Amino acid sequence: MSSSYLIALGSNRRHPIYGRPRDVLRAVMEELAALGTVSARAPIIDSAPMGPAQRQFANGAAVLDSEYDPPALLAGLKRMERAFGRRKGRRWGDRVLDLDIVLWSGGEWQSDELTIPHVDFRERDFVLSPAGAIAGDWRDPVSGLSVRQLAARI
Ligand code: ATP
Ligand code: CA
Ligand code: CA
Repeated sequence: MSSSYLIALGSNRRHPIYGRPRDVLRAVMEELAALGTVSARAPIIDSAPMGPAQRQFANGAAVLDSEYDPPALLAGLKRMERAFGRRKGRRWGDRVLDLDIVLWSGGEWQSDELTIPHVDFRERDFVLSPAGAIAGDWRDPVSGLSVRQLAARI
């Protein structure tokens, strides 16, 4: 059975072939089709660096309909991060690609390496703003609020 996923995309380093962070995200939107069907893409935004990151980020969001269950999808997303040249580094550091699962149609998921909804998405404008453009009606199963309502709070 197919599930729908809301994926958050981020980049703040150039890629040797794809170029600027926003062009990296444009390329990733195409590559995501390897994991399912991309049914919506948000316009890409620029946002300020957070934590130890040094450079401005490009952020985006996509809705992906996929046959994969959450751990399998996470593995696919991590493979894609590596394929785009992401190296192990500290959390929140500069990176060429970050792909997070924000929400999925199955409600909540909790395991050692994966928590859905993403634990911090409710406080992040750079996630909620693109997500609101394509998934405003999606509901956070924890707070009961829609993405649109969460975006309006910050
Ligand atoms: P943040 O999670 O605060 O956005 P980050 O994206 O920089 O920080 P990473 O280093 O990319 O953090 O990921 C750390 C680990 O988080 C991953 O290896 C993954 O196992 C785990 N993780 C837990 N929940 C999720 C989720 N919903 N989406 C993606 N990764 C998740
Ligand atoms: Ca992240
Ligand atoms: Ca991540």
